[in-house]
Amino acid sequence: MLSESFVVEDPRFLRLVMGNIAVEKLFTGTRWAEGPAYFPAGRHLIWSDIPNNRLMRYDEPSGSVSVFEQVCGHQNGHTVDREGRLIACEQGGRCVSRIEFDGSRTVLADRYEGRRLNSPNDVVVKSDGSIWFSDPTYGIDGDYEGYKAPSEQSGSYLFRLVPSTDELAIVASDFVRPNGLAFSPDESLLYVADSGVTHIENGPRHIRRLVVAADGKSIASSTVFATAEVGFFDGFRVDSAGNVWTSADDGVHCYAPDGTRLGRILIPEVVGNVEFGGLKRNRLYICGTTSLYAVFLNTRAAVRPARAV
Ligand code: MG
Repeated sequence: MLSESFVVEDPRFLRLVMGNIAVEKLFTGTRWAEGPAYFPAGRHLIWSDIPNNRLMRYDEPSGSVSVFEQVCGHQNGHTVDREGRLIACEQGGRCVSRIEFDGSRTVLADRYEGRRLNSPNDVVVKSDGSIWFSDPTYGIDGDYEGYKAPSEQSGSYLFRLVPSTDELAIVASDFVRPNGLAFSPDESLLYVADSGVTHIENGPRHIRRLVVAADGKSIASSTVFATAEVGFFDGFRVDSAGNVWTSADDGVHCYAPDGTRLGRILIPEVVGNVEFGGLKRNRLYICGTTSLYAVFLNTRAAVRPARAV
């Protein structure tokens, strides 16, 4: 029997979820959970508690939770690069940073054309090693999730960074507030949330689908993929079949690649982001404001294409 946490809106959803499985609450005690990143080699999950300016760590085999880092530049979104290093969006540090194998921190990008970034929000690494991130103003709009400051940029942009050369380029400048982002399994598409409704009445509250150009580093076109009925979409992940599992006000929404909403996973808190983990990458970790949740699904994380040479 299917848990009442699952709401089936299209028969295809029944193939992605399983009966006799419940959403588990793994931890509670954060002010605003965000930025989950799973490390397969260590079987642990790192996630952000943005207002408390700390990173949390969930150890999968033991189920224990600890503070991974306290005072961390109000980090928000995270990802793991091809080498297995943590890539962080620091809203307080107004930069994208990387933790090296020796534990030291490297700032990868903090300025564009000499002016400070707003407050990097979410990030993904492409198979060619390039780092794509959004740079809305949330971390400088107030002191709750960063440090209040005027923007030095002329907008909220989507950036592409090549860490080996420090090349930083705007790939999209037509978002009100770009937010979560993820590639399709073959990296031909890039999904990017626009949560601009936070700043403009009736502003965007949708996920756009951007077609990656043949050069692999620019955008050929974009269309609206999914629109939130309430609230807005924040972070999300794509599974191996190309389904988009996105955060929403009432939990997690699952969209097929054709844009049909297949179903929802109800969570009793606003969800900010999700991440696939587990030995088989078939466990969805869910950051829900004060708590970390998880649920096993009948699908798994998209596998990145082989490294481009
Ligand atoms: Mg976000």
